[in-house]
Amino acid sequence: MLVVPRSCDFLVIGAGVIGITIAWELRRRYGVRVCVIDKEAAVGMHASGRNSGVLHAGVYYKPHSLKARLCVEGNKRMRDYCRDRGIPLNEHGKVIVTRKEAELTALRELYERARSNGVTVALLDAAELKEIEPCARTVGQALYVKETSVVDPQQVMKSLANEAVKDGVEFRLRCTWEGFAGMDQVRTSQGALSYGYLVNCAGLFADQVAHAHGVGTQYKILPFRGQFYRLRPESKVKVRGNIYPVPDLRNPFLGIHFTARPNGDVTMGPSALPLFGREQYEGLTGVTASDCLTMLGFLTRLWSRNQDHFRSIAWTELKKLSRRGFFHEARGLVKGLVQEDLLIGKSPGIRAQLVDMQTSELTSDFVVEHGSYSTHVLNAVSPAFTSSLPFAEYVVNLIKEKVQ
Ligand SMILES: Cc1cc2nc3c(=O)[nH]c(=O)nc-3n(C[C@H](O)[C@H](O)[C@H](O)COP(=O)(O)OP(=O)(O)OC[C@H]3O[C@@H](n4cnc5c(N)ncnc54)[C@H](O)[C@@H]3O)c2cc1C
Repeated sequence: MLVVPRSCDFLVIGAGVIGITIAWELRRRYGVRVCVIDKEAAVGMHASGRNSGVLHAGVYYKPHSLKARLCVEGNKRMRDYCRDRGIPLNEHGKVIVTRKEAELTALRELYERARSNGVTVALLDAAELKEIEPCARTVGQALYVKETSVVDPQQVMKSLANEAVKDGVEFRLRCTWEGFAGMDQVRTSQGALSYGYLVNCAGLFADQVAHAHGVGTQYKILPFRGQFYRLRPESKVKVRGNIYPVPDLRNPFLGIHFTARPNGDVTMGPSALPLFGREQYEGLTGVTASDCLTMLGFLTRLWSRNQDHFRSIAWTELKKLSRRGFFHEARGLVKGLVQEDLLIGKSPGIRAQLVDMQTSELTSDFVVEHGSYSTHVLNAVSPAFTSSLPFAEYVVNLIKEKVQ
């Protein structure tokens, strides 16, 4: 019998933070041949290199959820990782402030959630808040989260990829997954690749790869663009760490916030605008006819059912499209902000939000599903960057259980 050698034991689709950490974990743990493919010319070109860089502490997530567990551990592990490699961190922590009295109930709910998740938090009065973030404003109380830190995500991505390569992971860039070609083969822009096991970490396209394997067919990805502004360096507003609003806990978005990056820049954002193309970074670029039709279908359905308060999310987000609307959202968090303080910010990122088509609900927890000889990471939304190191171990443990 003719035996055709396999291209690799594990084929990982996507060189974002999830694909790279899983590939590295597989290689380190089992010494197997792992190949990561990505359609771009460099790693971390999408969400992983374009996010806010906040290492979340684990305040928001429902106790016992996968997000809560992996975020708390991931925060500690990623901070240690950065310290060990000399990657700069801003470790001034974060405050969550209220803009009206009605938000105090949700603030206390966050305090309870954080404590249940094992996160160190403190309720502050106005004087204590002033000590930590002199320019933050709040009504009554604020929450202080010491462990929240900020990194430059691109530095982290470069470092992770370099270490994975050093440990023997192979990367094939400008290599696009184009389809499933039978039991153990995929079609790519660089020809057919054969594998023993496939791990799908394709971010905004992860549902398409999963569907080709007959997995996760009730899900689709809905893209939301996060736009950022930069605070004018001469502004009267000074930010030391992070200033966040109390989010609407029914929605998956945290709201526009101020983040002081390790290089001294302060960003404001991100917004969360529903899009008609998965990579619609600006204007109509990245919009395809089929995506557009699918997205219109989702939006109409969500709008008419008002699921997850979709209309109010959409309306709030539409207002943030203009600089003026964005300014109105941001000024509730700090004293002394003027519209001229908002400068064009860093490049936007797009959130690959999973929607359950059977219920039309936005899925909140991480989702990992399996096919035969394949595993699919389907909802690696925030805080997946923070959680990536323990998340990779979690996924590799699932794979191990499956193949044993
Ligand atoms: C605006 C914004 C702000 C965020 N802020 C934070 C934050 O502060 N803290 C935090 O923890 N998380 C944050 N997140 C979330 C975090 O960035 C993501 O959860 C994480 O980066 C997801 O990583 P990933 O590897 O799954 O996806 P990606 O980084 O998108 O990687 C997927 C990769 O798959 C590749 N790919 C896709 N299709 C194909 C194909 N057909 N063939 C080959 N390759 C393909 C893409 O090119 C891409 O490189 C934020 C996200 C956004 C959008």
